[in-house]
Amino acid sequence: MIQNKVMNKFFYKYNIFKLIVVCILLSLVVLSLSNAISNNIVARASTPNITIVIDAGHGGIDGGVVGKTTKVKESDLNLLVSQKLQKFLTDDGYTVVMTRETEDGLYGSLKRGRKMRDLRARENIINQARPTLVVSIHHNSFSRSPERGAQVFYSIGCTQSNSPSQLIARNIQATLNSSLPESDRVAKKGDFYIINCTEFASVLVECGFLSTPEEEALLITDEYQTQIAKALVNGIQQSFGKI
Ligand SMILES: [Zn+2]
Repeated sequence: MIQNKVMNKFFYKYNIFKLIVVCILLSLVVLSLSNAISNNIVARASTPNITIVIDAGHGGIDGGVVGKTTKVKESDLNLLVSQKLQKFLTDDGYTVVMTRETEDGLYGSLKRGRKMRDLRARENIINQARPTLVVSIHHNSFSRSPERGAQVFYSIGCTQSNSPSQLIARNIQATLNSSLPESDRVAKKGDFYIINCTEFASVLVECGFLSTPEEEALLITDEYQTQIAKALVNGIQQSFGKI
């Protein structure tokens, strides 16, 4: 009898021990599963399945506006900023489609009507990509007064306030304003073909004024172009966190 009691006590303790071990093992499994799930969510969040078309304005025979001091072509600066933006967005997991990746325009031959052919070719690229967002990159010029700062435009078709184009334009304008010296503008509707020719959310960014020598001196530097591209990425990231 005494021996039985001792045996029972032993088996009772042994079962408790087994139960504790099983509980610990189960909690470890649950913990590692929940970690795997949350890591997966983070991984998915950092690689959004979003396509962005970057449109470097002008190109080829159409150089756009020119720098007052250096005579730098707008088309060249547009491409430099676009390429930096392409790299940052690609690194962040976005799918990026460029309308042009060289100095050439998209008009084909030099015969009449090349501006419209160039724009239609860009429109075709956008329609094929079916992007979440189109960002067209340009530089500004204004001869009558020394204007400064970056200006963002959104589609004139945005009749409702808070349309995606308008929200994204506002976000990008805000990040440009906070990153660039003397940039304190408000996003506006823009009557530009490239941001009004398709159904997709579209913004056009004038990075600064090539007609203002102090701003031109900044716009031609690699550092300032990188600063612009980073501000654009921040505005885009904020937009996709909110929309
Ligand atoms: Zn332009």
